Amino acid sequence: MVNRPVTFSEQVVAAIRSVIGSGSAVLHEPSFNGNEWLYLKECLDSTFVSSVGKFVDRFEADIAAFTGAKHAVAVVNGTAALHIALKLAGVQAGDEVLIPAFTFVATANAVTYCGATPHFVDSEEQTLGVDAPKLRDYLASHTEQRAGNCINRATGKIIRALVPMHTFGHPVDLDGLMAVAHDFTLALVEDAAESLGSYYHGRHTGTFGVLGTLSFNGNKTITTGGGGAILTDDEALARHAKHLTTTAKLPHAWEYRHDEIAYNYRMPNLNAALGCAQLEQLPAMLRAKRELFQRYQTALSPIPGVRLMAEPEGCQSNYWLQTLLLDPDHAAERDALLQATNAAGIMTRPAWILMHELAAFRESPRMDLATAQSLVQRLMNIPSSSGLAQNV
Ligand SMILES: *Cc1c(COP(=O)(O)O)cnc(C)c1O
Repeated sequence: MVNRPVTFSEQVVAAIRSVIGSGSAVLHEPSFNGNEWLYLKECLDSTFVSSVGKFVDRFEADIAAFTGAKHAVAVVNGTAALHIALKLAGVQAGDEVLIPAFTFVATANAVTYCGATPHFVDSEEQTLGVDAPKLRDYLASHTEQRAGNCINRATGKIIRALVPMHTFGHPVDLDGLMAVAHDFTLALVEDAAESLGSYYHGRHTGTFGVLGTLSFNGNKTITTGGGGAILTDDEALARHAKHLTTTAKLPHAWEYRHDEIAYNYRMPNLNAALGCAQLEQLPAMLRAKRELFQRYQTALSPIPGVRLMAEPEGCQSNYWLQTLLLDPDHAAERDALLQATNAAGIMTRPAWILMHELAAFRESPRMDLATAQSLVQRLMNIPSSSGLAQNV
């Protein structure tokens, strides 16, 4: 008798196996196939390993060129990038900031670093990002404009900004959200930590808001070990971002004068050296990740009850993390599938616990989160490293 997969979990495991081969696979591992060793050695030999050095300037210029942003400021990580971007967008203590409940905790943490409160909004199934029409309806009925500010009627606080996040690399509905931000006087700051190499109608994500942020953590599309960047087209904001992330020191030959309270958030040259090499590899990694998506798509599409997240219409996704979404009538199988895949050496993970369920954010204001709640019960990420496309 032929040993054919019969259960739902067995079918999915077999499909993933047919793509990634017989070895075990983690969710996302970095690959260093270019000039990483060369640039790191050059950096060490120069002795400029820390907060000054040519690789930082070059990395910032390369990031700006790749994304099309006029300015990029490299920082220690994506969370620090968000913190500074929010501050520069005008977020102050006592404000509220609209963020998806369905995000990584960094988005919410960065809001609290400003002394502000995250205000959680729902997501939609096509992009996994903020649902613009639902947010518009919510704001229309729960806020009012006073002196050019959006006021939350329930709390009396100013809702200062909206931070959409491009989930797993899939661009959100930016047209819809830019219109909401405009109509309700909200600053738009994009958390593009997951979407380096993702485009909305041909334009790079993270360049639509007044500021946008990237992450180069070890699990992201490219890595600097740890790192992040602030993107903006506004020269004054870019200058201020640099100033705030470098202790606000005034340029002077010997004097240590700092003109405001600031942060030591600058990316070290050593990390930037790695980043320069990684950026050179980015186009090849993006091609490999797209190829991996297509192979998964071919293998998984015959299986009823599950679909692989594809890039939204008119968008180009970096396919940072490949995502399975179970149909509502298969939601009950999700945990068994997590079990079966991990037991088979195929690393899979559910999405984050929604932010309003974390102890720190239980009291935060929020709208109805029905879609986000449904999504997190039906979703899982599967092995997504660019290196996997070379297998088989
Ligand atoms: C990775 C990530 C960040 C930033 O993370 P760091 O680890 O601080 O670089 C922010 N938001 C989201 C959604 C992320 O996935």
